[in-house]
Amino acid sequence: MKILGIETSCDETAVAIYEGDTATGLGVLLAEQVASQIETHARFGGVVPEVASREHLVALPPMVESILAEAELTWAQIDEIAVTAGPGLMGALLVGTSYARAAGMVHNIPVSPVHHMEGHLLAPGLAGVLPEFPFITLLVSGGHTMLVRVDAIGKYSVIGQTLDDAAGECFDKSARLLGLPYPGGPEIAMLAKGGDAKRFKLPRPMLNKDNLDFSFSGLKTAVMYAVKAAGGVESFDLQTMKDMAAGIETATCEVLVKKSIRACLREDAPRLVIAGGVAANETLRNMLFKLAEAKGVEVHLPHPKHCTDNAAMIAYAGFQHQCAGLAAPDEWDATPRWTLHS
Ligand code: ATP
Ligand code: FE
Ligand code: MG
Repeated sequence: MKILGIETSCDETAVAIYEGDTATGLGVLLAEQVASQIETHARFGGVVPEVASREHLVALPPMVESILAEAELTWAQIDEIAVTAGPGLMGALLVGTSYARAAGMVHNIPVSPVHHMEGHLLAPGLAGVLPEFPFITLLVSGGHTMLVRVDAIGKYSVIGQTLDDAAGECFDKSARLLGLPYPGGPEIAMLAKGGDAKRFKLPRPMLNKDNLDFSFSGLKTAVMYAVKAAGGVESFDLQTMKDMAAGIETATCEVLVKKSIRACLREDAPRLVIAGGVAANETLRNMLFKLAEAKGVEVHLPHPKHCTDNAAMIAYAGFQHQCAGLAAPDEWDATPRWTLHS
């Protein structure tokens, strides 16, 4: 079957077409496109919801036509539309879901609502097959930091999460303190390459707490004090910037990696997936591979382009629902706040 995926939950307008065989659960991604609004929002230092909705409205219809042309398909050959129904920005979600519903009605195609986070946590399947159940996923993005136990498609339990800021948010806010543009994660990662992570002593929040939760707002505050103590960002030379970036990156990644591996061992599920925008971070990947190998945990990583927001993961989640025989609900709406559960 061929599934058209649509994603408009935040600041990326994305479309994709996935073709899979429900008997085997295997398939291929036929085409995908992502139009990022990052540059539009960068001058405001973050995503402006109203602007995001208007940009989606302009970008989405021609992108859908363009991806059908790219895959050399007509509407008649599409078997299902999978669309992100939440969580996300209300206006942005409404653009995607309204478009999906209208197209479904016009072309007589069923529409299936997908939870954005479910898309992220199943994303490694796009590279081939999903890990054996049960597995643990660390979902780490601009809006979320959580550990999820996956027992089957549609059977998810959140076993740990951030009590305040998300890890990506910590990267973004720390970057702002250093005068770096939005989004800050890639900026910090780039600077950190030549930095000495030991120069500035930053905390590892919640690392020694005997649970699987996270907290990153204290780290951001520690960065603020460290910057002040070092004379303020205006006085920083390039090496000081690099050392500070390396310190921030290492502190964040160390907590994420150690807690994720701890979750796998505790849950007796030695297979770990990392997903979400921060999962594109190379230091995180390297630290994770090292510790995972030592502890006998298998690591599954989505392609970096499928770590950030994309529609391939939404089409794929729709496909996996079909494989698992999970029917779309009769009634559904765009849901800005939607917790992930079984
Ligand atoms: P959510 O998916 O939770 O609604 P979101 O859409 O902001 O939130 P993503 O698009 O998945 O999340 O990820 C964006 C976040 O990832 C930003 O906070 C960004 O700084 C961070 N990020 C992207 N690349 C990197 C990187 N290489 N290193 C660290 N952080 C990164
Ligand atoms: Fe996302
Ligand atoms: Mg995003």
